[in-house]
Amino acid sequence: MTERKTLKKDENGILEIGGIKVTDLAAQYKTPLYVYDRAHIEDICKSFSETVEKYYGLGKVFYASKAFSCKEIYRIIGGLRLGADVVSVGEMRTALSVGFPAENLCFHGNNKSYVDLEFAVNSGVGYIVIDALSEIDDIDVICKNTGRNQKVLLRVNPGIEAHTHHYVQTARPDSKFGFNIATGDAEKAIEKLLTKKNLNFCGLHCHIGSQIFEKKSFVIAADRMTDLYKRVKDKYGVSFDVLNLGGGFGIRYTEQDPAFSLSDYTDYVRTICVELEKNVTEKGIKKPYLMLEPGRSIVGEAGVTLYTVGRIKEISGIKNYLSVDGGMFDNPRFALYQAKYEVLAATRLNEKPVKTYTIAGKCCESGDLIAEDVSLPEMREGDILAVLSTGAYNYSMASNYNRNLVPPVVMVKDSRSYYCVKPQSFEDLVRNDL
Ligand SMILES: *Cc1c(COP(=O)(O)O)cnc(C)c1O
Repeated sequence: MTERKTLKKDENGILEIGGIKVTDLAAQYKTPLYVYDRAHIEDICKSFSETVEKYYGLGKVFYASKAFSCKEIYRIIGGLRLGADVVSVGEMRTALSVGFPAENLCFHGNNKSYVDLEFAVNSGVGYIVIDALSEIDDIDVICKNTGRNQKVLLRVNPGIEAHTHHYVQTARPDSKFGFNIATGDAEKAIEKLLTKKNLNFCGLHCHIGSQIFEKKSFVIAADRMTDLYKRVKDKYGVSFDVLNLGGGFGIRYTEQDPAFSLSDYTDYVRTICVELEKNVTEKGIKKPYLMLEPGRSIVGEAGVTLYTVGRIKEISGIKNYLSVDGGMFDNPRFALYQAKYEVLAATRLNEKPVKTYTIAGKCCESGDLIAEDVSLPEMREGDILAVLSTGAYNYSMASNYNRNLVPPVVMVKDSRSYYCVKPQSFEDLVRNDL
């Protein structure tokens, strides 16, 4: 078993999360079950914020809440004075419903409707990140009508495409997100924004990808963005107050990924802070308020999904299927992009692996798998499996496919556990059926 801060095993080879045995969690809450280690989330949030404070001194971390959105996560994040990114009215309302300060919300999306924007402006959200030319006109009209002066950023595409261990300096300009700097589209959008007096045009935003390990990608992004800040200053005499460099920090999914300590995580943030400070000084631009938007790195490794082993099918000489009581309805990431996970025989951690299994979900789709070629001890029906690093983009992507119920979410801390999302019921499933 990989060393992970959230996980321990007891003397009988049973996995513990946040000090609670998985057998106890499964008995109390049933499976499938999403479990989050609250201390892990809090530790990362605090150290990200402290790192920005220490190495840059002017800025805020906005948790990208699409990674895992529910009332409790906005309470936790808000309690630690982080901001949050929201990408829909649904996320925005969830945050606002638990008293999350509107001014600490940042609203994203490539297709925010007039109604969405009106809701955001009227709610007093801190920032709207513009990603379409006509959106500029819409917000301008909304501001005129409401007498509000909305802070906005413009999303640009700095031409860096970063994925996991690689980055490409000249990304293809065909992303659906942002205005391309290289094609001149970004500057046209900037010019248009500068004519709008009802908007408080604070600066630019970029988000260069996800699951990025290569810190160089962020260094290049900071360089490209400050180049553009200097150009805007020289050409239009405008100094932006804010720079949003997005999120995308990589986490550990499998043993092939680097093992992360808290200080490795904060290294991403420190690198960005140090580079930005250097660029600002060298280029003689106004020091902008720095916004960062990590999602996966805050909640990803904090989450574990527990399943109960069901039918085991051994196709002689070909493959061993081990089916679990969940699947693509609670974790669609394998089906979507063959995402890889570490899977543990959570009640047999003292036994040696003897067999290779493909972990299958219970949905009627051949592609409904959780992981392939997993070495495990001899497994039996009723055993508990733990899939690690499922805290990000699992619950938030869950569905009722095949009319399965979305599993509940349980938070653990200091050997205590509590529901933060209760189980769905059959009544929930048919609530809107006529
Ligand atoms: C998804 C997203 C993020 C968060 O990305 P992670 O890989 O989860 O850190 C941040 N900013 C924007 C604009 C995003 O779309």
